[in-house]
Amino acid sequence: MEILIVDDDLISRRFLQKAIKDLGYSVVSAENGLQALDIIQKNQIKFVIADWMMPVLDGVELCRKIRLLNDSGYIYFILLTGKDKKEDIVQGLDSGADDYITKPFDREELRVRVMTGMRILDLEKRLEDLACIDPLMQISNRRYFHQAMERIHDRACRYSEGYGAIMCDMDYFKKYNDMYGHIQGDNILKAVAEALKKTLRLSDEIFRYGGEEIIIILPEQDINDTMIAAERVVKSVESLRIEHKASEFGIVTISCGITAFDKKTDLGSKWVSVVDRADKALYRAKSAGRNRVNT
Ligand code: GH3
Ligand code: MG
Ligand code: MG
Repeated sequence: MEILIVDDDLISRRFLQKAIKDLGYSVVSAENGLQALDIIQKNQIKFVIADWMMPVLDGVELCRKIRLLNDSGYIYFILLTGKDKKEDIVQGLDSGADDYITKPFDREELRVRVMTGMRILDLEKRLEDLACIDPLMQISNRRYFHQAMERIHDRACRYSEGYGAIMCDMDYFKKYNDMYGHIQGDNILKAVAEALKKTLRLSDEIFRYGGEEIIIILPEQDINDTMIAAERVVKSVESLRIEHKASEFGIVTISCGITAFDKKTDLGSKWVSVVDRADKALYRAKSAGRNRVNT
């Protein structure tokens, strides 16, 4: 974890830097609030310790501005100040600071206050995982999919990088549940998600799209790469060889519809049109006989 220290005074900055490093954290530093904001926006800073009185942008103003950023996740903010009157503390915390330390600071006090901040950030991370990971399949959920697509599609439009999409749906899964029961059905969904994860590259992203539907996004891949990956997906489920007597294949299988970001039609339009094309391709894979990939 990296902690950002903001102080205009070189001596106190060095002093604080040393104290934080001794606690085992790495440190980035800034001389004023404006410089700090720039660093926060360019790096993944989650923890800030800032002096109150600084030129250009002071600590309280910096904290207010940080609270208005909405795409950086929660940032834990400690205000460092020589002011110790009750009204000052109230004003500091009112600006959105999580905690304050009065100068000159005591090393032991700094240690426990940093520890408290780390505990809050850890809780925030756990909440984030709870909100974004599907508990059955242990892959990202639909809610997170929407966020991820905004990011991936935006990148594709801006840098013409493109991406592929694979929409997957279990074949005859209603019949599977009817014959083997819902609990066994759940076990299969878990096993299939696990098999897909193993088949994909680290840069690919996998999401539970609906009940027994999974969508895979392959950054920087064109339609040919996407086809190859989807063929591997279908084979990976087949090779689990899970009995499914109510299916014409005798085993559990999956169908995939694929598409890729197209500069001509997708530039300037929304990601939903890409997903819609993958969905239509999936429908064609089902009509063409299932256990296959279609464009
Ligand atoms: P098709 O080959 O046309 O896709 O046939 P299908 O029976 O799979 O049809 P469809 O995709 O429309 O049906 C989805 C079924 O998946 C219905 C539901 O019983 C089952 N399902 C959806 N979510 C879950 C789940 O979380 N657990 C279990 N066990 N079954 C689920
Ligand atoms: Mg379905
Ligand atoms: Mg299905």
